[in-house]
Amino acid sequence: MSSTQSQPEHFDVLIVGAGISGVGAAYHLTQQCPDKSFVALEALESFGGTWQMHHFPGIRSDSDLYTFGYRFKPWTGPPIATGAEILTYMGEVIDENDLGRHIRYGHKITTASWSSEENLWTLEAIRTETGEQLSFTANFLWMCQGYYRHAKGYTPDWEGMEDFNGQIVHPQTWPEDLDYKGKNVVVIGSGATAATLVPAIAGDCGHVTMLQRSPTYFIPGLNQNELADQLRELEIDETWIHEITRRKILHDQAAITRLSFEQPEFLKGELIGAVRALLGPDYDVEKHFTPSYRPWRQRIAFVPDGDIFKGIASGAASVVTDEIERFTEKGILLKSGETLEADIIVTATGFNLSVLGDIEFAVDGAPVDFSETVTYRGMMFTGVPNMLWVFGYFRASWTLRVELLCDFVCRLLNYMKENGLEKVTPALREQDKDMPLLPWMDPENFNPGYLMRSMHLLPKRGDKPDWQHSQDYWAEKNDIPDIKLDDEVFKYE
Ligand SMILES: Cc1cc2nc3c(=O)[nH]c(=O)nc-3n(C[C@H](O)[C@H](O)[C@H](O)COP(=O)(O)OP(=O)(O)OC[C@H]3O[C@@H](n4cnc5c(N)ncnc54)[C@H](O)[C@@H]3O)c2cc1C
Repeated sequence: MSSTQSQPEHFDVLIVGAGISGVGAAYHLTQQCPDKSFVALEALESFGGTWQMHHFPGIRSDSDLYTFGYRFKPWTGPPIATGAEILTYMGEVIDENDLGRHIRYGHKITTASWSSEENLWTLEAIRTETGEQLSFTANFLWMCQGYYRHAKGYTPDWEGMEDFNGQIVHPQTWPEDLDYKGKNVVVIGSGATAATLVPAIAGDCGHVTMLQRSPTYFIPGLNQNELADQLRELEIDETWIHEITRRKILHDQAAITRLSFEQPEFLKGELIGAVRALLGPDYDVEKHFTPSYRPWRQRIAFVPDGDIFKGIASGAASVVTDEIERFTEKGILLKSGETLEADIIVTATGFNLSVLGDIEFAVDGAPVDFSETVTYRGMMFTGVPNMLWVFGYFRASWTLRVELLCDFVCRLLNYMKENGLEKVTPALREQDKDMPLLPWMDPENFNPGYLMRSMHLLPKRGDKPDWQHSQDYWAEKNDIPDIKLDDEVFKYE
């Protein structure tokens, strides 16, 4: 590896990643901190992150684009969007705001070291095309690297996988030339990815079976927003439509989230009733679509136009609820003794969590073990100066938190400038020091597999709202703008 640089290149702010978070960060910096120099370094060759990475058939959002889209750029299409439509939207945001000049693609950051002597981060990055090593310095590090490892999805290690004569595919690394026409496909998993993939391939393959260990909640509904459509009929300006539709969606989602805590059985009945209506009275909804857990402990996928249920009702797709005993030459032997024959097995089994982009962090020469830090509101970490991580919401669109945190970072940067401050590190206050330290997320609140598998690697949370990522947009939309920057939590120098 070689470097042609004589000096590291310096920026006031360095953004890691150009997904929905990094592009949002870039936009808000230009608007709210126009005097700051900044760069976004992105490992991939283009923007979009998740939407650039995933190419499996049918890839689409599972939440609406009125709230997954940014507050500043109206979404004008149907609420659920394809991956390609999201990329087009993001491309327009970049072009319309001339953000391209701030983004450098093909730059993978490997290390980040803070020096308190200079009040600077030094980052090492590799140009993915040439292997060249580059150094950057920055006063503030804005981590927009997402939450999962992009190179490889999570596939459990099942016995006999090597015996299987067909092809095993993970949706995160879907081969462009995968030929599934007329083939027998088994999709393992029943999360949002499986629910997208199954109807998308059902018409083309011989048969597709969704194999799940246990059922998941879905919200079937039309891929349209009545209010937005009506406002359009009235020729209301798109900027207004965007804002009003966002408010209405968030208002309705708040009610559903409240119901999930206060009347979970009622909500469960409503969700399952909607599925039953699509599958008919003879279908065993009890076995295949009645989860044992309370709604909202995992993300609930919206199923536009009930497409997966239509595929099942038509016979092109089916659901098997069972456990895998082992893979065989021909397919999968289930614990019930039944065998599922397959030409292709798709493991829609989730992600590998990546803690802060797999970057090696050091503060003043000491390596940072994030599991020994405590998180300030799921965005900053005790003992780690001038750094913020964007980890969005799961019960609401990720982007809602991106923008709340954008406002916070910009407010913090402007405050530090006005007060001649160069360094800010969150620290436990005297009254916080005896607080019990708990894992990053309460599994009673939210418990997807990738978090459960890797919780031990993540920062700790405390038992007070200041010291946790609550996943509660409706509280944070008021709390984050209200954060007092002169609070003792923030140690400035
Ligand atoms: C199939 C799928 C569907 C989803 N649908 C929804 C949805 O409908 N609604 C919703 O709210 N959420 C959804 N999510 C969650 C989704 O990932 C987030 O909402 C959002 O896209 C994350 O954006 P991000 O920019 O934070 O991270 P990412 O999209 O993961 O982007 C991070 C970027 O950082 C780059 N990066 C990482 N490490 C480094 C490094 N060391 N150096 C340089 N660059 C680096 C990556 O290459 C990547 O481009 C979905 C996720 C998946 C996988």
